This record gives sequence, structure tokens and C-alpha cells, in this order.
Amino acid sequence: MHKFGDCSFCGGEVQNDLVELDYRYKGNLYIFKEVPAGVCQQCGEKYLIGKVSREIERRINAREKWNKTINVPLNIFSEVVPT
Ligand SMILES: [Zn+2]
Repeated sequence: MHKFGDCSFCGGEVQNDLVELDYRYKGNLYIFKEVPAGVCQQCGEKYLIGKVSREIERRINAREKWNKTINVPLNIFSEVVPT
């Protein structure tokens, strides 16, 4: 367990938790579940320690056997929103 300092955005308390993470790497999106991270109890900001983000990138680069591949809807939102 890592001891986190206070949240650098809102000053809230950061506690250890297991989180779901949307991880963008070299233009691709990966989702990791049950990642140990610090989570701000006030604003929800997530903090990863270096060891964990290195392991995430190692798994991506090692083409780790993925548990699942999902489709994600994508929309290019360039039109003016009607009022
Ligand atoms: Zn915060």
C-alpha cells in the first residue's frame, strides 16, 4: 500500500483503492480493471504510482493476453449543438 499525499487538484484525502482505468497509449485505448491506485475522496482524481504505470505499459507492449476486447462507440462531435 502506498501512502499518497493530498490531492493536488482539490486538496482532498487520497486513499488506496482498486479502480477501473481508461489508459491511452500510443493512440490506442486500453481498459484495466482492479488497478491499485490512489483515489481522491473529494473529486475522484486517480493517482498511479510509477510501478503500476510501468506494469501497465509493460503489459501493453508485451501484447499481454487480454481478458476481453470490447467495442467502444466513437462519434466525431464537430457540429454545432442545436439550441
Ligand atoms: Zn481531489
